[in-house]
Amino acid sequence: MPNPFSNLLTDTLQLNAPEINALQADWLLKYHVSLHVLRLDKVHPFVSGNKFFKLKYFLEEALQSKHKKIITFGGAYSNHLAATAYACKVLGIESIGVVRGEPAQTLSPTLDFCVQQQMQLQFINRSDYKKYTSNNRKDYADLFGDNIVIPEGGYSEKGALGAATIFDFIQSDFTHICLPTGTATTIAGLIRSASPHTNLIGFSALKGVSDFEKRLHFLGIQNTSNVIEIKEYHFGGYAKKTSELIQFMNNFYLQFDIPSDFVYTGKMFFGVVDLIQKKYFPEGAKILCIHTGGLQGNQSLQKNTLIF
Ligand SMILES: *Cc1c(COP(=O)(O)O)cnc(C)c1O
Repeated sequence: MPNPFSNLLTDTLQLNAPEINALQADWLLKYHVSLHVLRLDKVHPFVSGNKFFKLKYFLEEALQSKHKKIITFGGAYSNHLAATAYACKVLGIESIGVVRGEPAQTLSPTLDFCVQQQMQLQFINRSDYKKYTSNNRKDYADLFGDNIVIPEGGYSEKGALGAATIFDFIQSDFTHICLPTGTATTIAGLIRSASPHTNLIGFSALKGVSDFEKRLHFLGIQNTSNVIEIKEYHFGGYAKKTSELIQFMNNFYLQFDIPSDFVYTGKMFFGVVDLIQKKYFPEGAKILCIHTGGLQGNQSLQKNTLIF
């Protein structure tokens, strides 16, 4: 297939076209399903996973008007901030990261990375931050002037349109597509591109949120009949972990040579394997998991927690 990653933007960032791995294991045969992984984690070490796709149209806009800055939002461990900072540096775009919370004595590894990429950081308290990032936020132009403002996590129709192009790398007809969800922007993109006969399964990385449908509507999705949100695999909440999860991630790596992160993809893979073993998927199911990247987040774990 022609490489959809061949334009000024992807060439400058030196992105790799992601492949699909077919996983082989005896236990999979037992359940009569096949399991595949789209390795978006391999697109780039820093602009990895789904983040590039959500940023894509914002970055293209910035390349066309280079005097504009990119302003975006995130927490201290945000994969989105790290990806934005790196992409902006390489593309020669000035970037500002608005960070939730007070500045800590020492920066998190993620924020430290952002500073190294020359992102300017502005810390704001949690309640002001909420105002900036809620659905009915004030018009950004009032606050940030004539610059390019990317909502937190790319949560916008433009972000979803970018995520829709992930489908350029999914040629074959899978019965189920599984991915972790946060803002739901990535899954909204996939819903746009997938056939209505493909089941899309989002594994929520958050605990106790129930605005998934509302978010999809905000992102321009009307028909959600082929979409399911699974909420049982949050392991205590966003960025929380248990030893069971960590052990699973290490085993998954040993078995399939696929590293995962503890905030999103580790939980999704755990959920998919668990659901296969519970016979959630019908026989003959052809399941695709989207590895949405996020491996940089594992740096906040103690050394030797993970074997990769
Ligand atoms: C940001 C992120 C997500 C969440 O994507 P949304 O589009 O916000 O739902 C999933 N996986 C990883 C690894 C991420 O970094």
